[in-house]
Amino acid sequence: MAMPDYDLLIAGGGPAGLTAGLYAARAKLRALLVEKMAPGGQAASTYMIENYPGFPEGIPGPDLMQAMENQAKRFGLEIVTGEVSQLTSRGQLWEVEQEGRKITAKAVIVATGVEPAKLGVPGEEELKGRGVSYCATCDGPFFRDQDIGVVGGGDSAVDEALYLSRFARRVYIIHRRNALRAEKILQERAFRNEKIEILWDNVVTKVIGGAGVEALELKSVKTQERRTLKVSGVFFYVGLKPNTGFLREIVEMDERGHVITDANMATSAPGVFAAGDVRQKLLRQVATAVGDGATAAFAVERYLESMFR
Ligand code: NAP
Repeated sequence: MAMPDYDLLIAGGGPAGLTAGLYAARAKLRALLVEKMAPGGQAASTYMIENYPGFPEGIPGPDLMQAMENQAKRFGLEIVTGEVSQLTSRGQLWEVEQEGRKITAKAVIVATGVEPAKLGVPGEEELKGRGVSYCATCDGPFFRDQDIGVVGGGDSAVDEALYLSRFARRVYIIHRRNALRAEKILQERAFRNEKIEILWDNVVTKVIGGAGVEALELKSVKTQERRTLKVSGVFFYVGLKPNTGFLREIVEMDERGHVITDANMATSAPGVFAAGDVRQKLLRQVATAVGDGATAAFAVERYLESMFR
C-alpha cells in the first residue's frame, strides 16, 4: 500500500472540526484540517454565544473560535485553506480533492457544517449583498436607524433579530406561523424588545428593490392578502442546509442531506466519520459539535489501530 499523506483529513474548521483536530493532534496522528474560509464556522459569525458552558457572561463567537483554533494549533494541528470538492475510495485509503490537489489519508472526518438556506423568492438572489443578507453580524451595522426584516422563527432568526435591534430603528420578524420555534429565553427577550415587531402568519413572497432593497411583499397565510412592507434590508434565517454535495453516493444521508452516523460518528463508509451540524442529529449547537468532534477523533484512533496495525 502506498504511504498516505496523512493519517486523518478533517474537512471543515468549525467547532466540530477544530475539536477533532485538537484530539487528533494530541493523539499524535498526522492530521490535516482543510477549511474553505477562516476557521470558526457558523459560530465565528455569532455575535455572542451564551449557552457554551464555562462562560457565565457569554463569549463572542469570534473569540471562542479563535481560542479553539489556537488550542488545536498549539498541539501541532496543520490547517490549510481550501475547499474539499471530492472524496474517492482508494483501496483502504481515501483520496480527497482540494482545489486540484489530491491528498490521501487513512481516515476522514467530515465536519463541513451547514450554510443558510435560501427562501427562493423573486428578488432574493438579485439583491443579495445589496440589502439581502444571511449574516447579521457581518451586515447588521450597515442598517443603523433603518427598518429591516428578519425572516424565520427559529433560534437563528430571533437571536439575530435581537442583535440587529442594536442598530436598526425597527426590526420586523416575519414568521409563517403564530408561534416561534426559538428557545423560550430568546422569545421572551424579543417580546420585551420595543424595536422588534413580530408579523405572525406571514410569508415573504418577493424582495422588491433596485440598487438596494426597498420593500418586501408579504402574504398572510390566513387571508392570502398581500401587502408591501417598507424595509431597507432583509435577513433570511429559514433553516440550514448541510454542506454535503461532495459526499453524494459515498455515505448514507437523510432526505435533507445530513450525514447519518452511529453513536461513534462512523458513517456508512469505512474510515469516513462525520461530526457537528453536518450530521443528522437532534441539537445543533457548539456544545454538541465539540462532543462530536472529540468522539470522532477518538473513533478514528480506534479505526486506525484496527485497520492499519
Ligand atoms: P431552524 O430551527 O430550522 O428554523 C428555521 C425557521 O425558518 C423556522 O421557524 C421555520 O418555520 C422557518 N422556515 C423554514 N422554511 C421556511 C419557509 N419556506 N418560509 C418561511 N419560513 C420558513 O433553523 P435555525 O433557526 O437556523 O436553527 C438551526 C439550528 O441552529 C438549531 O439547532 C438551533 O438551535 C441552532 N442555533 C442556535 C442558536 C442559539 O442557541 N442561540 C442560534 C442559532 C442557531 P417553522 O417554525 O414554521 O418550521
